[in-house]
Amino acid sequence: MLNVTPEPIEARRIRVRGVVQGVGFRPFVYRLAVERKLHGWVLNDEAGVEIHVQGPAEAIGRFALAVRNECPPAARVIDLECRPVELLDADAFRILESRHGEAPTTRMSPDLAVCEACLAEMFDEGDRRHGYAYINCTHCGPRYSIIHHLPYDRAATTMADWAMCPRCRGEYDDPVDRRFHAQPTACPECGPAYRFEVWADPGEGEEGGQQTDAVARAARALADGRIVAVKGIGGYHLACDAGNADAVERLRARKFRKEKPFALMVRDPDEARRLVELTGAHQELLGSAARPIVLARARVELPGVAPDTDELGLMLPYAPLHDLLFACGAPSPLVMTSANRSSEPIAYRDDDARERLAGIADAALVGERPIARRVDDSVVAVRSREPLMIRRSRGYAPGTVARLPGGRPILALGADLKNTIALVVDGEVVVSPYIGDLGDLESNRAFEETVRDLLAMYEVGGRDLVVVHDLHPQFESTRLAGGLACRERVAVQHHEAHVASVLAEHDRLDEHVVGVALDGTGWGRDGTIWGFEFFTGSVREGFQRQSWLQPVAMPGGDAAARYPLQAAAAFFGEDAGIDFRQPPFGFGERFFLGRQLVAKNVRCHTSTSAGRLFDAAAAVLGFDREVSFEGQAAIWLEHTAGVASSLPLDFGVLDGCRLLRQVVDARLADRPIAEIASAFHAAIAREIAARAAGLAQEQRLETVVVSGGVFQNRLLLALVERELAERAGLRLLRNVAVPPNDGGIALGQAALARFGSA
Ligand code: ZN
Ligand code: ZN
Ligand code: FE
Repeated sequence: MLNVTPEPIEARRIRVRGVVQGVGFRPFVYRLAVERKLHGWVLNDEAGVEIHVQGPAEAIGRFALAVRNECPPAARVIDLECRPVELLDADAFRILESRHGEAPTTRMSPDLAVCEACLAEMFDEGDRRHGYAYINCTHCGPRYSIIHHLPYDRAATTMADWAMCPRCRGEYDDPVDRRFHAQPTACPECGPAYRFEVWADPGEGEEGGQQTDAVARAARALADGRIVAVKGIGGYHLACDAGNADAVERLRARKFRKEKPFALMVRDPDEARRLVELTGAHQELLGSAARPIVLARARVELPGVAPDTDELGLMLPYAPLHDLLFACGAPSPLVMTSANRSSEPIAYRDDDARERLAGIADAALVGERPIARRVDDSVVAVRSREPLMIRRSRGYAPGTVARLPGGRPILALGADLKNTIALVVDGEVVVSPYIGDLGDLESNRAFEETVRDLLAMYEVGGRDLVVVHDLHPQFESTRLAGGLACRERVAVQHHEAHVASVLAEHDRLDEHVVGVALDGTGWGRDGTIWGFEFFTGSVREGFQRQSWLQPVAMPGGDAAARYPLQAAAAFFGEDAGIDFRQPPFGFGERFFLGRQLVAKNVRCHTSTSAGRLFDAAAAVLGFDREVSFEGQAAIWLEHTAGVASSLPLDFGVLDGCRLLRQVVDARLADRPIAEIASAFHAAIAREIAARAAGLAQEQRLETVVVSGGVFQNRLLLALVERELAERAGLRLLRNVAVPPNDGGIALGQAALARFGSA
């Protein structure tokens, strides 16, 4: 008789941290354990997921590997700790109730794109969720946008009003089902539905009918060139056929959106490849669970969609509804733009949407599931094969972007443009979704809502709170900071915050670096306007300003940012000896008005803004109209720049006047605009690299950090990268997780405030 010695049984306790709750993690662990005939349990607690597992050592080892490497698509394991423990009396593997006292700092999952399994069911005629737009499971679907408060339970979501039918309940309670504890689970029997409403034609009222009818009617309206308001995950979109120039034009007119590019949604990846040039990095972002809008070089021209740029912003369907729409015959690509008027925040409540969008949309596809909080689409570009976040919102927020040493909770309020807010609790920095440009009633209300929401969600009270705001005394966010109950208020210099945001997200809080910030407008420590600055220092010890663009008197505040011609006036005095009224310039009155302001020194601000320097160059090269969104002239300039130029422009000692004078001379000499534009970029990049390298050598530093909105410029960043790469021993660090524009400022503010180095 063969004598088989049973393998010795061992026990391990495994602690998993990361995004592991509300994402199907426990059923996944359960399945892994059962497959390997291991015993024990798994549970959720305040720190994440804890697993007790026992069986042969080798099987446990493979199990632990699988837990880390094969986890569900929505989950993200940050840390897995395994230690030997005593054997327990276990004869099976179980999912245990959550341990109580779940702290609200448990990471909340962002909203996730619909998964393949759910899509397959939705398109399967035999499935009970065939054609159901609210299909979801633990691997996919809404999270943040439907949660009223933590802990994440159905009763705390906007699904609380729909009682599960017995079949949905059965799946919800079954540990091996894909919908085990899927809080928003529903079906056509028991869940919310979509309906189609005609808004433009007073003859027709609200329409009932089957849910697929509603989607089919919306698809038909879109194919007919109508503008349809579509309720999605974090708010309403305004949709129309992107190939229909009339529809696009009508949408622009009704939305008061003159030239800012519209985002597109395409049916599938093949369609995306037809429209834009996609690298591997682009495709990865497009298909990721966050499903951001991805910027890529256009291969086709769609009139009216994205004037003045050679890029298109594309996303794939992410709500099941979007896939249904295309399946029902909606044209692809669709314009899918946030439903609002110009710079207002996105509409997300039904009554509000009806009121604000009635004059814009002809019809609406209205879903019954309420949205708890607005979350805009995220926008990402790719630079040197790495993502560059332009707007961090749906799919990313409220994920953690950085860790800071513990201490009092910090609320950092960001800046006035592209506002986002950061909250630091227990050392984790959580950044809010994109709020937008502050200054009007709606945006300020959205800002206050977000502050309240973040504080309530993480149970942070005023008594402990450190409130951080921009140094700018006239910022709306600074004013709003004054109204918040807190223990302490801290002001942070704008460009130091930009540089700190990079170091914080890369977890280099102690590293001494050269920091380069190129930006539109920021209040400087000397009370002038800064925007082209070189610093040295660290987040922990603070930054010292080392050099900067030679200051000019910038005529007018806001107007100089709106009119590139007015910004140009700052760089050309009356004695320039050039008649700018004559061709090739033919400058309009804005320029001469600006020059008068400078001459009389009225309403002028001393400024080192890089944004205005780019605007001025754009004006000299032909962009002479008012910009209709921030950065438009600089984007035009970037896209005007042609192949590398042999034209040597000299920036002198960061002398904008001198550089622009050469731009003027090159134009007078009839050099092609494309060539001058690239030479302008090259001269600035060269000087940035040379100066940064000089500072690095002086202070024995190895890292150059670049940030600020101007570094969204593809060409400039590539040139700076190349220039620095040629200087051995220098490393370039830039923003990846948060935007280099003011959408990333809050993180930098929080980091500097944490160390008192503001
Ligand atoms: Zn799913
Ligand atoms: Zn049901
Ligand atoms: Fe900025």
